Amino acid sequence: MGPYQIEQLEPELQQIAVDNFTFQNWAKTFKCTPELLFTPVTESQVQKVILLAKKLNKPLKAFGSGHSPSDLACSPGFMINIDKMNRLLNVDSKNSTATVEAGMSLHTLHKVLRENGLSLSNLGSISDQSIAGVMATATHGTGAHFGCLSTIILDLTLITADGSILYCSPTENRDVFEAARCSLGSLGIITRMTLQAEPDFKLEAIQKPYKFSDVLNDWDAVIHSAEHARVWWYPHTDDCVVWRANRTTKEISRKGPSFVMENWYGFHAYQAMLNITRYSTSLIPYLTKMMFKTLHSKPIEVVDVSNKVFNFDCLFPQYVNEWAIDWKDAPDMLRKLDKFISENDLKVHFPVEIRFVDEDDVWLSPAYGRKTCYIGVIMYRPYGKVVPYKKYWKGYEDLMREYNGRPHWAKAHGQTRKDLEASYPKFNDFLRVRQQLDPNGMFLNDYLKRHVVSNEAKL
Ligand SMILES: Cc1cc2nc3c(=O)[nH]c(=O)nc-3n(C[C@H](O)[C@H](O)[C@H](O)COP(=O)(O)OP(=O)(O)OC[C@H]3O[C@@H](n4cnc5c(N)ncnc54)[C@H](O)[C@@H]3O)c2cc1C
Repeated sequence: MGPYQIEQLEPELQQIAVDNFTFQNWAKTFKCTPELLFTPVTESQVQKVILLAKKLNKPLKAFGSGHSPSDLACSPGFMINIDKMNRLLNVDSKNSTATVEAGMSLHTLHKVLRENGLSLSNLGSISDQSIAGVMATATHGTGAHFGCLSTIILDLTLITADGSILYCSPTENRDVFEAARCSLGSLGIITRMTLQAEPDFKLEAIQKPYKFSDVLNDWDAVIHSAEHARVWWYPHTDDCVVWRANRTTKEISRKGPSFVMENWYGFHAYQAMLNITRYSTSLIPYLTKMMFKTLHSKPIEVVDVSNKVFNFDCLFPQYVNEWAIDWKDAPDMLRKLDKFISENDLKVHFPVEIRFVDEDDVWLSPAYGRKTCYIGVIMYRPYGKVVPYKKYWKGYEDLMREYNGRPHWAKAHGQTRKDLEASYPKFNDFLRVRQQLDPNGMFLNDYLKRHVVSNEAKL
């Protein structure tokens, strides 16, 4: 059967169908052209789309804001995006919980929570993602006593491959709940969630320069030196920045480099200089040293509402790779990574970002059962093309494997199903639930077939 045409749809689905749509992820590293895109506004429309995909035997893949730096959200079949399902459904201020439609973006979530005196307790670097997308990949922030974002889900509703609406929580459909807290979009379309927040708060963040070797030697103290601590290491140097944030009642303020310095120099001048390094990659270490000196010679202190302090400007499109290991193994791994970079004379971009996540019990969370350190490596595009970033990735991944590393699900990686099965105690439970809910594989795509349901993955 050829591509399905809008004219063949029933009138209600024609209203929410889009043809000639190309999906592209934020970093512009993956794209696909589905036969049709559906943008439902109600759960009943989601049901109708699923029943149509079932009848026509078409794959159906949800995407949120397309921020996954991999083909995790791609599909050549039907695609569905529930951004228009973005209402706040209920707030319980006493218990600091909120029930929302899962197409809501994190930006909107911050707004509606704040209007009700609430905030999320932790956050990653940006808030452009949809709530469903963030939870589908166990997106994380940093903080020794804070789990990944999936740990704040109290209950959720998904629409499964036979069109049923399934509510699940720790007491109802428990196995589905455990699997769906980090589902990779492979169980059904998640339409609503109840989330645990906390009373609205401000954060005071202080970032200061350190010698990276000192930080590695004092690892535990650094991890616990603030409610939320992260390290940015500048490869080719022994320099790093430690960012520490704690809850505060101080007034909103900012001390440190001016806006112009941070935004003009840190963005535009840096980009111009990266362009020059395309002609001579040997300049990269000098550029790294210069940027560190210019931007981090003085501490930066910021007090602001929590989401503004948690979030950062992630600069330009980029290739990224990020895996999770036991945080006690991270200093060894990082010393080996430093050695690998210099022994292979690789010229790599900064920063290597190091964050801490508390252990959890979400079946497919990379922090399942262990206190976790995420180590992220980056090569900005298109500058990465002139340096052998694949060699960097291979060395990085081989080292991560030595420590039973688990890749961030959203990011392109080279683990096979066999590798993942060995490092996730609940992997087969997840597959059992998946098979029960979606026996014909409606919600599978190439990424899931490569890494989760078969044995053949290669970087
Ligand atoms: C600049 C940048 C910064 C980032 N910072 C961080 C960070 O600090 N920490 C971190 O951990 N990650 C980070 N990420 C990764 C990002 O949080 C994840 O890729 C997240 O999944 C993106 O959400 P999204 O809404 O864009 O989802 P998409 O990328 O569009 O989709 C991701 C997954 O969610 C599924 N999905 C989407 N909607 C639904 C639905 N309604 N029902 C079922 N499944 C659904 C999709 O099928 C897919 O499997 C960052 C990415 C970028 C590009």
